[in-house]
Amino acid sequence: MQLIEIFPWNEHFNTGLDSIDVQHRRLVALLNELATHIAFGSAAPSFDELLTALADYAAYHFSTEEALWHEALPDAAETVAHRRSHARFIEFIGGMRERPTHDSAQAAEMLDFLVHWLAGHILQSDRELAYVVTGMREGLSADEARRRARERMSGATQAMIQIILSTFDALTRNTLELMRELSRRRGAQAALANSQALLSAVVDSTASPIWSVDAADFALLTFNAAIRNHFAQQHQVELTRGMSPEQHFAHAPGYAEIWRAYYRRALAEGAYRVEYLTAYGGQTLQLHFNPIRRDGVVVGVAIFGEDISARKAAESQARFLALHDALTRLPNRELVAERFTVASSLAVRDGGRVALLALDLDQFKAVNDALGHRTGDALLRAVATRLQSLLGAEDTLGRSGGDDFLLVLGNAGSTERLAERAGTMLEALRAPFDVDGHALRISASIGVAVYPDDGADFDTLLRQADTALFVAKSAGRDDVRFFDAAFNVVAVDALALRADLALALQRGEFELHYQPQVDLGSGAVLGAEALLRWRSPQRGLVAPGCFISVAEDSGLIVPIGSWVLQQACREAAAWRAAGLGHALSVGVNLSALQFRRGDLLATVVDAVHGAGLDPHRLELELTESLLLEDAEQVRESMRQLKRLGVRFALDDFGTGYSNLSSLQRFPLDRLKIDQSFVRHIGRDAAEAQIARSIIDIGHARGLQVIAEGIEDEATAELLRGAHCDQAQGYLFSRPLPAGAFADWVRARS
Ligand code: C2E
Ligand code: MG
Ligand code: MG
Repeated sequence: MQLIEIFPWNEHFNTGLDSIDVQHRRLVALLNELATHIAFGSAAPSFDELLTALADYAAYHFSTEEALWHEALPDAAETVAHRRSHARFIEFIGGMRERPTHDSAQAAEMLDFLVHWLAGHILQSDRELAYVVTGMREGLSADEARRRARERMSGATQAMIQIILSTFDALTRNTLELMRELSRRRGAQAALANSQALLSAVVDSTASPIWSVDAADFALLTFNAAIRNHFAQQHQVELTRGMSPEQHFAHAPGYAEIWRAYYRRALAEGAYRVEYLTAYGGQTLQLHFNPIRRDGVVVGVAIFGEDISARKAAESQARFLALHDALTRLPNRELVAERFTVASSLAVRDGGRVALLALDLDQFKAVNDALGHRTGDALLRAVATRLQSLLGAEDTLGRSGGDDFLLVLGNAGSTERLAERAGTMLEALRAPFDVDGHALRISASIGVAVYPDDGADFDTLLRQADTALFVAKSAGRDDVRFFDAAFNVVAVDALALRADLALALQRGEFELHYQPQVDLGSGAVLGAEALLRWRSPQRGLVAPGCFISVAEDSGLIVPIGSWVLQQACREAAAWRAAGLGHALSVGVNLSALQFRRGDLLATVVDAVHGAGLDPHRLELELTESLLLEDAEQVRESMRQLKRLGVRFALDDFGTGYSNLSSLQRFPLDRLKIDQSFVRHIGRDAAEAQIARSIIDIGHARGLQVIAEGIEDEATAELLRGAHCDQAQGYLFSRPLPAGAFADWVRARS
């Protein structure tokens, strides 16, 4: 720490007593140290150290002085006053030292005190006393010595005191201020040097390229290690200060001009940023261009390249996820809508048509219930793959949830061509799926709406396609339907449906239709299957395909199922009373939930006894998925019901995951070959062979076999040839209301 002599020692300070003057010099030195301390802040010596030094000074010096004065002028008034003055000094320093914290204001106060001490005590009091002592030592009397001392304390001394005090004044007002400022600057410069070192360390250690160019010619000003290394490794260019864009982009013609344009934009517009896909590594940089200003004038452009590759990848991943179905990775509904909009605008240009297909798997819920969600998921993926293989470049396959798929066929062509394509899809889905070791056979239904014929926008067309799908399902599934404005059924969302269904039961809007079952050989009527219908005031007559799954999901199927059992038993009991014969049986479909929830045994007993129906005339229809679900419990319930006399049929046999062992394990009476299977036996020799095998196996197990969905005589004939026992289908009759069924039976006998 340099010492600045603000108060240089002046020969007028001398008292002529060496022992005193040495110590006064020491005080003046401490005074200068204090001034320097103030000017340079808290640099060493610290204020604390200064106070200690002053206290030491006072303790030593004052005793020397006081001894001297006392020796010459014992008990004289000036000696006493002088001692009091010393005491004040000690008191002042002591007070200063006791303060808990020391700040610059205190240091200034200290300086003030010392300067006045120098002016008042040392220059006046000490010198005068010293002159007295010197005079007495020369032999003068005390009074003579005092007189001469007063003479020596002439105007010059007063002038000197004035100079000291005004120096102090100026010092505090200007010099100290100036010096403080100076020290601040020096500190700032040191901090700047430090921060610059820190900055370049940081800037060099980052992997992000950072550089700056001159505003005048875009020559390189500064650059960090990242960009230096990049140019050295990728382009064998050694970057140097002052290089022009043309020089460091010598390897890439045209680049210099691109970069000059970037720089110019920063000069013209101020800070901005652009995304920049690097030619190497496919890295995406966010380039921040910032004008560098000095005194308000733009002197350069600083560029910082932030690597946002990870963020971009995450963004595109997020976009993918937002627009795709996680299970199948197919576009979701939103993306399908987007694709549809693109396709429809192309169609507007080319005068073409775009088809929107809503495709729904017919027995998916059963697969899920029977084999678990993992298998269900795998099946959905397999379905997606198979459908995808049938599509062209202008088509989109998406999944909108559950087993609902959406297809946009870009170049739809004629209605005939569309029907053919949709038919091909259904055909493809019929071939068994090999999933988790199961050979699953499923079918699907498709609703089609066409742009611009059926609607102008995606939402409208989707509604129309859903309505058409609804109709396809109601009509017995495994079918394609085109939207027709005349459809009197309205597809509504499941929630509204659920609420309406609950009310429907209370309001008695359900009814049963009966589809006759006949002996294939003799044509005799054996009974009927009770099929649920909902006569909704808003929707018209609704088929079970449209609401059974909602009723199952909501649990409503349990009370609805109880009602079906009671109603079927009541009406079947009435057939006998109406003279329709003694032996007509009634088939009632059961849902899995009725086994799991609710007391099925009690419900059946109540229904049968309440109606006065012979339990042998009631046949409960179960599906294979139900049998697989909770085999032991189901078997036990079946055994109890069997003891009562109730019969069991296995419904929808042949629709996939058929497990022949269930034919053995459960107390069944009848096998119902599913209509989707029956429908193709006329066309396909292989299917016919399988049908024959099923019938044989059923017979071998002691079961009667009934074929469902027979629509034409040829199929009936084929089944007859295959020794199928019984039949049910439109060929004989559609499901009929109870009264109409009674009429139908009467008409045949
Ligand atoms: P399911 O038990 O296989 O019933 C046969 C379905 O095939 C009936 O459809 C019937 O109308 C239809 N069908 C009969 N013959 C032909 C034909 O020759 N050609 C065509 N294309 N279809 C024919 P429906 O009445 O729409 O019933 C559909 C399904 O709803 C039933 O299939 C059954 O699984 C379920 N279901 C019906 N009523 C009830 C019920 O009360 N409770 C429960 N849990 N499910 C029911
Ligand atoms: Mg049935
Ligand atoms: Mg069936």
